[in-house]
Amino acid sequence: GLGATGNFIHSYIQEDLKGELNKIHTRFPPEPNGYLHIGHAKSICLNFGLANLYGGKCNLRFDDTNPTKEDVEYVESIQEDVKWLGFDWEDRLFYASSYFDKYYEVALKLIKEGKAFVDELSAEEMREYRGTLSTPGKESPYRNRSVEENLDLFERMKAGEFPDGSKTLRAKIDMASPNINMRDPVLYRISHSTHHTTGDKWCIYPMYDFAHPLEDAIEGITHSICTMEFEDHRPLYDWVVREAGYTENPPRQIEFARLGMTNTVMSKRKLRALVENGLVDGWDDPRMPTISGLRRRGYTPASIRDFCERIGVSKANSMVDSGLLDYCIRDDLKAKAKVVMAVLDPLKLVITNYPEDQVEMMELENNPETPELGKRLAPFTRELYIEREDFMEEPVKKFFRLAPGKEVRLKGAYFVTCTDFVKDENGVVTEVHCTYDPETRSGSGFEGRKVKGTLHWVSAKDNVQATARLYDYMMLDNPEDPNGEMIMNPNSLEVKECFIEPSVKDAKKGDRFQFMRNGYYIVDTKDTTDEHLVFNRIVPLKSSFKL
Ligand code: ATP
Ligand code: MG
Ligand code: MG
Repeated sequence: GLGATGNFIHSYIQEDLKGELNKIHTRFPPEPNGYLHIGHAKSICLNFGLANLYGGKCNLRFDDTNPTKEDVEYVESIQEDVKWLGFDWEDRLFYASSYFDKYYEVALKLIKEGKAFVDELSAEEMREYRGTLSTPGKESPYRNRSVEENLDLFERMKAGEFPDGSKTLRAKIDMASPNINMRDPVLYRISHSTHHTTGDKWCIYPMYDFAHPLEDAIEGITHSICTMEFEDHRPLYDWVVREAGYTENPPRQIEFARLGMTNTVMSKRKLRALVENGLVDGWDDPRMPTISGLRRRGYTPASIRDFCERIGVSKANSMVDSGLLDYCIRDDLKAKAKVVMAVLDPLKLVITNYPEDQVEMMELENNPETPELGKRLAPFTRELYIEREDFMEEPVKKFFRLAPGKEVRLKGAYFVTCTDFVKDENGVVTEVHCTYDPETRSGSGFEGRKVKGTLHWVSAKDNVQATARLYDYMMLDNPEDPNGEMIMNPNSLEVKECFIEPSVKDAKKGDRFQFMRNGYYIVDTKDTTDEHLVFNRIVPLKSSFKL
């Protein structure tokens, strides 16, 4: 896993700590252009986890050098999500935009040393000049301008004299390099746009490949962990750090494979499109793989950290089965969540030999795995609700639930035997009639005979009516797979009105329960009101997923 000291990132770090380095320093550098998702959680767990493990530090840095797509809404949600996951940047919250002066200074240094020039090729011409993997690039006709001319033009770019796209600042490296990233990469572009922290101060903005290594170097980052698509950019990263003069313990870029999950769309751009097109109920829709969506759905921080630990890191891209995350939340909740009886698809059960007005309070364990969670009482009455699927008029083989003439246990109560049932004009069963055996009360030590099925039930007279939302994967295909498609699952949400035992009456927003024989649920934090509880199913109990 991530924390296991065996993976390649640990080897690099341990090797570096044996040398000149005393302490490691990592960072998590999101661009505030969307909400964080489970892929970011992997990067957060990795970066903060390494710092914790090796007694180092980890910065939270907003990589906000791109003025147009960024917003404070995202800046706030990102901080909330990192904290919620259980990580602490302490006093190390940084904005890449606060280094704009520094990038500019480095650009001037490069120009003065003849290592950068102002270019006037259009984007299209630049593409043509760049060449391909198999052909070398061609030098720009503006490449050999004098230092004075470059300084003058760059100052005037900064002063706002030129329109967007008319000029760029480029590094002078090697147009024949086999690595296309080294063929005079663009360092600065002109963009007359307002930035969320610096307003209209700048109309030139640094490119990611120039800004990012400088951000790392300025903050004293020792290990700059990023995803595989930056592997080919590493020589440029090292070039920028070195040419800017950061020669003592320069940051080391290490790449790992980004997380992709089955039935899950992960790219921020595509997630934003779902939100903007109204296909989901916001960034925190409980089907979204965003941290805020997972939180609202009911996943715990511990389950997400456990998931990130189990998937580990590698250099090979692979798709993780979404069932693993479900496994992790079941594993976290199974000994913690209070188990209650809820009937989602009610069928009335009448116990014909049970006194009309009698109520018995049946004692039930809150969690059989955790006796410390104690017990509670549930009212047992003549009329109850059971799950419709727990009755069959003509039982199939191995159906051990209720059917004419069959006996079952009602959880924590009595054995009942089905004597009759009632159908409406459409042939739908509307009531099941039973008799109960008073001798068989739970806890009485009755051993006269055994039954194979135990059903949960809720009093028809004394219960809580609530809404249960059952979720399925949002995507039918695997959009993060190279050949995957973005196809919404039309059945990703099923809403049911259900009956729950009265003990949930005082449940608070965010409380988690197991609905017996069904799944884990959380009281929705948004749609629940003082009068009406709304539950989100986090995950069903059963799964075909195998570790
Ligand atoms: P997206 O394509 O979803 O916008 P991004 O990489 O552009 O992702 P950033 O905000 O730049 O998003 O990401 C911040 C950090 O999180 C980066 O270091 C990035 O490598 C990491 N990260 C983003 N997505 C994933 C993922 N799917 N798996 C692992 N790490 C990720
Ligand atoms: Mg990015
Ligand atoms: Mg992005």
